[in-house]
Amino acid sequence: MKGFDTRAVHGGREDFKAMGVHASPIDLSSTYPIPDFDEGTRSFAAWGAGEGEAPNSIYGRFHNPTVARVENAIAGLEGADACIAFASGMAAITALLLSRRAHGNHVLVVRPLYAATDGLLANGLLGFDAEYVGADEIAAKIRPDTTLVVIETPANPTCDLVDIRAVVAAAGKVPVMVDSTFATPVLQRPLELGAAYVVHSATKFLGGHGDVIAGVVCCSEELAKPLRKVRMSTGANLHPLAAFLIHRGLPTLGLRVERAQANAIEIAKRLSQHPAVAKVFYPGLGTMNNSHLVGTQMSGPGSLMAIDLKGGHAAASKVMNSVKLMVPAVSLGAVDTLIQHPAGLTHRSIPVETLGKYGITAGMLRLSVGIENVEDLWADFEQALSGL
Ligand SMILES: *Cc1c(COP(=O)(O)O)cnc(C)c1O
Repeated sequence: MKGFDTRAVHGGREDFKAMGVHASPIDLSSTYPIPDFDEGTRSFAAWGAGEGEAPNSIYGRFHNPTVARVENAIAGLEGADACIAFASGMAAITALLLSRRAHGNHVLVVRPLYAATDGLLANGLLGFDAEYVGADEIAAKIRPDTTLVVIETPANPTCDLVDIRAVVAAAGKVPVMVDSTFATPVLQRPLELGAAYVVHSATKFLGGHGDVIAGVVCCSEELAKPLRKVRMSTGANLHPLAAFLIHRGLPTLGLRVERAQANAIEIAKRLSQHPAVAKVFYPGLGTMNNSHLVGTQMSGPGSLMAIDLKGGHAAASKVMNSVKLMVPAVSLGAVDTLIQHPAGLTHRSIPVETLGKYGITAGMLRLSVGIENVEDLWADFEQALSGL
């Protein structure tokens, strides 16, 4: 197999030479002519059965060649048989859950999680019985109707690491879903560690430029079939323009992730010595639970971190209002540095007591460090933290 960066540059582009193109053609067709009737009926049946390929696309909700190219590229990066792209990360997670419904109703979930995933499971909207457990309780909590184990590592917003291999061993026959959005396939490939599904909000690093909302699930061909059926039936398809943008950004994924990580390592060191900062939550500092997984499960600590400010809510508010270069915004994984307040924004729907249990305080800010010049970033931190 070719190296990661070679796959990132060339993946999903195998048909370009034959087409005589150098950039992915954006196919906006909603329907496709059926030149041969028998081939058309066979293709219709193939999409309906959840197949990944057929001679005729038939209809845009069944298949789109521009979307299929980026799916193939991402599958190649995760070492997966298949990748299925959706209109958002939440659409991907919803489809994954629905594709498991026939196997049972009980889902084991390890917190903390991206708040919308947490909410989707906790509010019972999809009819699943979600049970929140510690990673070390999984083996004891598996039931005959347990259909999925859900983990996120690094987890949002505290960057807690969960030991994927240990969870897979504890889950036994029950498939494990890893939301690997914070890690990207550059730093972590959960399928190689035994996970059944890897999920990304492609809105984040895979897109990387803050201009696309998308989600993907990578898995085996067997697990992909029901997922494609759910997508075809419920229609949360990724738009081909969005697929084009993600595909366009993939060649620089490795460069972006490595540069952002180098910046984050430096920023985390400096923040941990800043008098206004009580604690830095960053797997690269070696001070957190499971930070030994950096270098084994994850090849590096990534570029997400959280800081707890000594001055609590007032200090967090002051920093959010004073940043000049960093962008005060939710989301992450873009080329620019984003800073947000979990308690007031992304995680506000979760009860304060639950947040407190995971160390998510009113003085916490989450940073997604970008690829800017690190000294310019630090100058922005210094001025925003001054006087606290
Ligand atoms: C953003 C995000 C999601 C949801 O993805 P959307 O594209 O916003 O729907 C899920 N998990 C994690 C870890 C995320 O950061």
